[in-house]
Amino acid sequence: MRIPGKMASEVLRHSVKTPATCNYPHEKQEMPDKFRGKIIFKSENCIGCKICVRDCPSEAIEIVKVAEKVFDAVFHLDRCLYCGQCVESCPKGALETSVEYELAQIDKDKLRIVFHAKTGDKPTEEP
Ligand code: SF4
Ligand code: SF4
Repeated sequence: MRIPGKMASEVLRHSVKTPATCNYPHEKQEMPDKFRGKIIFKSENCIGCKICVRDCPSEAIEIVKVAEKVFDAVFHLDRCLYCGQCVESCPKGALETSVEYELAQIDKDKLRIVFHAKTGDKPTEEP
């Protein structure tokens, strides 16, 4: 097959360039600090105002009172857009974005994450 001149120069140019893609998942890339991955809940800062719930465009957050001034957060990662609006809206810095992006699941129930107050992040077994 005859390669036209313009195409030949493109082929040559790209044959000496470094690849634009990485060999994922064998090679993982470091995400920038401001990457909007999985949201982290810092229960010690939460005052239960639910501004995050109100501002979330996809109804992906629930704030549950578990004791006087103590709140759990439930995140529905299957609905989350990773827009970061909840982090912007929280007046107490109780929400943060993380660089965690490997969130794919076969079982949809595992995308419902409960941040229990002061005990960290544990998937719940409740529907
Ligand atoms: S906006 Fe912040 S302080 Fe208010 S309920 Fe949400 S996480 Fe808690
Ligand atoms: S990142 Fe966006 S979609 Fe996800 S919980 Fe926060 S506000 Fe909702």
